[in-house]
Amino acid sequence: MILHLTFDILSVLTSGLSRTLIGRRTGVAVATERAGRGSLVRPASIVDGVHERIYERLMSLEIPPGARLPIDGLARELDVSQTPVREALARLEREGLVRKAHLIGYSAAPQLTHKQFDDLYKFRLMVEPESARQACLNLTPELLHRLELSAADMEKGEQPVDRNSRYSRFARADAQFHEEILKIADNETVRQALTDQHVHLHIFRLMFHSRVTQEALEEHERLLEAFRAGDADAAHAAMHDHIARSRDRLAAAFE
Ligand SMILES: [Zn+2]
Repeated sequence: MILHLTFDILSVLTSGLSRTLIGRRTGVAVATERAGRGSLVRPASIVDGVHERIYERLMSLEIPPGARLPIDGLARELDVSQTPVREALARLEREGLVRKAHLIGYSAAPQLTHKQFDDLYKFRLMVEPESARQACLNLTPELLHRLELSAADMEKGEQPVDRNSRYSRFARADAQFHEEILKIADNETVRQALTDQHVHLHIFRLMFHSRVTQEALEEHERLLEAFRAGDADAAHAAMHDHIARSRDRLAAAFE
């Protein structure tokens, strides 16, 4: 999942204007590419745009958990052929956001149950604070700089066009920030175990309708302060606090 997200972010950053338009309105973006490049439409970027559009709808619950996702219907709606829709859905399946059933086709993944939510947070509390401590011990000025950039991504960037895309972008940037810390901690087993859970996507999808962003940013800032000071115990404490607070903010979704 994270590899895809990283790729998406990089490809947006390194591409021209028409690419940055993708993700706002797939139909518009594809039209822009066609207008701008004539016959040189790159299929990969169409897949990216279709993926982004469906991703936003899943994250915002505009497509509700369990809803069917017929390929032909989506292709018509997004004004593209069925091939990019099929590829985008396969990518979303790897990200854990859609499921594919034999003879039935794709549907939106079910929402987390309360038990799955509890398990996920217990797991995060077991491994992420310790990973933050380890990351702090491994930090170099260059790695810290990368982490600062990753944190800044959550606050800056061009103004998204609507609430859905702002929200799904925030979810992605948060995933990126936590992933960056796990990479620096340099325990591939832990990193892979967390990545496989698609933690951020499921969690952000769970609570689209509640407050998130400001509090999380402040908690990240505390974590960064600990990293800047090279204080491994403070980094452990700040990560523990961030995850526990995140859990408490989200638990409301089950009440
Ligand atoms: Zn976070």
